[in-house]
Amino acid sequence: MRRVAVQPNASPTDGAMTASGSRRGFLRLTGGLIAGAAVLGAAAKSQSAAPAAPPLPEAPELPIDEQAPRIVEFGPGPVTSGTNIPRWVGEGGRLHPGARAGALEVVWQVNAAEKLIALTFDDGPVPGVSEVLYDILDETGIKATLFVVGQRVEEFGDLMRGRVDRHEIGNHTYSHTSTFTKTDAEIEEDLTAAHQAIAEVLGREARLFRPPYSHVNGGTLVAAAQLGYDLVMWNNNIGYLGYDGEEDRLVRDVVETVFPGSIVLCHDGGPEYLISIRSVPKIVSELKAQGYEFVTISELREASKA
Ligand SMILES: [Zn+2]
Repeated sequence: MRRVAVQPNASPTDGAMTASGSRRGFLRLTGGLIAGAAVLGAAAKSQSAAPAAPPLPEAPELPIDEQAPRIVEFGPGPVTSGTNIPRWVGEGGRLHPGARAGALEVVWQVNAAEKLIALTFDDGPVPGVSEVLYDILDETGIKATLFVVGQRVEEFGDLMRGRVDRHEIGNHTYSHTSTFTKTDAEIEEDLTAAHQAIAEVLGREARLFRPPYSHVNGGTLVAAAQLGYDLVMWNNNIGYLGYDGEEDRLVRDVVETVFPGSIVLCHDGGPEYLISIRSVPKIVSELKAQGYEFVTISELREASKA
């Protein structure tokens, strides 16, 4: 089994992982990372019981002029599923014989006739956080999709055993390093290592990939296609920054903006996200009262094809 090297971390608190929660895109991540790290640092001091999860690498700051020629910037928008990615993506325009014919789909949301929503949680499993999430998912009786970090699955997979059977498991890479910093081969290695960790620890075969920080480039698409994955992004998110003491507004911002077929981003990668996780019961009950049902990504996509 191949393993990717996990990058050394710049600081003990740089894994706050606020990046992919931002709807503003990767160019404006730094402020969020700093704020998230401060919260994480404060929480770490007051919670000594749970072993700390290893911090994850920070999103790179890329000069704009270097981004332009090679980065496909995706983001939430009115585009729906069914986006066919050309088979020529990749370094040097080479074709990858292992890729499926027709490549892969990139999904932000689906056209759902029924009132279906998929909640997704990235960056777990993390002690002291993911158990709170799993309890809430059990109490509310809903299904969700967990985009896990392979390295954390290896270390903290015991947290998940027997707790996540009805949920869908997606691949969020092994190292949670931005694909913008890797070669095509390194991206494939990172995805493959996570795929294997999920298979070995959880006995599950992941088929969905969500790239860290929502960074998508040609190598990301090729590696995902090679492994038979589709890419799952998101069109709404449960926020956490700036909502202290304003949980009602946090709930309202989600409840008032989702629609049938929405894919909602949330995180269980650190204690700073507990404010969003603890808002899930209220979000669920308000949306259930409107007739919504919470399903996995695969169920959401299946229903849209029916
Ligand atoms: Zn992430």
